[in-house]
Amino acid sequence: MNTPTPDWHARAAAVSIDGRCLINGRRVASTNSQTFDCISPLNGKVLGQIARGQLADIDLAVAAARRAFNARTWAGQAPSARKKILQAFAEKMLAHCDELALLETLDMGKPIKNSLAADVPGSANCIAWYGEAIDKVYGEIAPTGDNALALIDREPMGVIGVIVPWNYPMLMAAWKLGPALATGNSVVLKPSEKSPLTALRLAELALEAGLPEGVFNVVPGFGHEAGEALALHMDVDAIGFTGSTRVGRKMLEYAGRSNLKRVYNELGGKSANLIFADCDDLQRAAETAAGSMFYNQGESCNAPSRLFVQESIADEFVARIVAQTPGYAAGDPLDANTELGALVDVGQMNVVLGYIEAGKNEGAKCVAGGVQARPESGGFFVAPTVFDGCSNDMKITREEIFGPVLSIIRFKDEADAIAMANDSPYGLNAAVWSGNLSRAHRVARALRAGTVHVNSYDEDDITVPFGGYKQSGNGRDKSLHAMEKYTELKTTWIRIDQ
Ligand code: NAD
Repeated sequence: MNTPTPDWHARAAAVSIDGRCLINGRRVASTNSQTFDCISPLNGKVLGQIARGQLADIDLAVAAARRAFNARTWAGQAPSARKKILQAFAEKMLAHCDELALLETLDMGKPIKNSLAADVPGSANCIAWYGEAIDKVYGEIAPTGDNALALIDREPMGVIGVIVPWNYPMLMAAWKLGPALATGNSVVLKPSEKSPLTALRLAELALEAGLPEGVFNVVPGFGHEAGEALALHMDVDAIGFTGSTRVGRKMLEYAGRSNLKRVYNELGGKSANLIFADCDDLQRAAETAAGSMFYNQGESCNAPSRLFVQESIADEFVARIVAQTPGYAAGDPLDANTELGALVDVGQMNVVLGYIEAGKNEGAKCVAGGVQARPESGGFFVAPTVFDGCSNDMKITREEIFGPVLSIIRFKDEADAIAMANDSPYGLNAAVWSGNLSRAHRVARALRAGTVHVNSYDEDDITVPFGGYKQSGNGRDKSLHAMEKYTELKTTWIRIDQ
């Protein structure tokens, strides 16, 4: 028997928002009782009021996190016990999949089908995976000779500040929470002011799963207030940051101005997707290029937003890409068939429309989209847009747009393609499409990016690190490597008398 499709509009109408902070296991208003509007990008209407956390609230949250850490209520539990609690947390997320998915979609505009199929299960899997890992990772004994023993171990750092963006609010939080909590730290999470809802609900579910009070705190608020206070705090040991390169730069300054806390930056991108004439399957390459570009409304750090196509196949390939765009027509995010939802807010929509104007003014040829969509909804939608005839020095090819806008650049040969692909301040992802094995390896080696795909894009697994070269950041989320970020390497020397 088929399960009936939920009436998401009815469920949305029944949502009630509790936007208070979660500090030391309790929901509390901000100390000065200030709030701000949480606006849905689906229709521009106010969803609820969110606590406007500031320095005093961050102080309370960091103090609670430090108390829990010093009391060893979490770090002092055996890894096998922490594992069980993290698994219970992940199970609760899955049990509340519909609720979390709806909050995510209402808050930041992505299609409900993606929230259900990717954001909630991906976040739950991340928490469960790090829970699973912690009683399987061992320390080392160094080969130092008979008269001493040197133990090399990893200890939790203490209090981790986590600051995340709005494009994948739950998933970006989970990528930090998983390794930080699993290794025994306490966390203070500052979600984006544009998408605070799921973070607050996650912290409640973690408490219900048995995470001790004070171990996971959430203070919503603005970047220049709560975010800055957290990143400047003298009692925060590390910052796990995902966001723009502009703010990532500030994170390094804040660390320098305060306690030299570790800073792990996961920043912007302008990823290059290289299609060679010897690609075996141009149709699959076109479908993948469009799908990866327009997924999440193009609001993905790793979106392949610079498409390089070899001249001899360029006309044909551009036609194949344009033919994909009707499949990504902007639609109601609460409709289970929608592929392209709303941009996060009116500001982001105007930024994207501004880039589209810049592309037209710079002489690029707009061959699809290029306009606002669904204005009658009151929400913030932009049609999937493709620019042909771009050069690598245009504003639309150099800057991260963070919307559904693809720039196509034609190239002559391999050297030309590699040089242009690497000519970017960013280095997050890249891809090469070629049926020639040697070319694929040669180009993959030459591309300066944290992840290179061959004949694919968006392959994804929690076991594999994610992060960038150059101004795309220095941290790596996911995989066992991420656990290194939230632990200190400790050596203990023990003298052995002979
Ligand atoms: P943003 O940098 O504007 O904001 C990110 C977070 O930082 C938010 O919580 C914000 O409130 C906070 N913040 C802003 N100013 C601050 C300040 N002065 N001090 C402290 N905190 C501050 O980024 P965004 O617009 O929310 O997100 C989009 C960006 O995130 C894009 O550049 C995208 O590429 C990047 N991103 C990167 C990855 C990755 O893994 N590399 C993943 C997702 C998004």
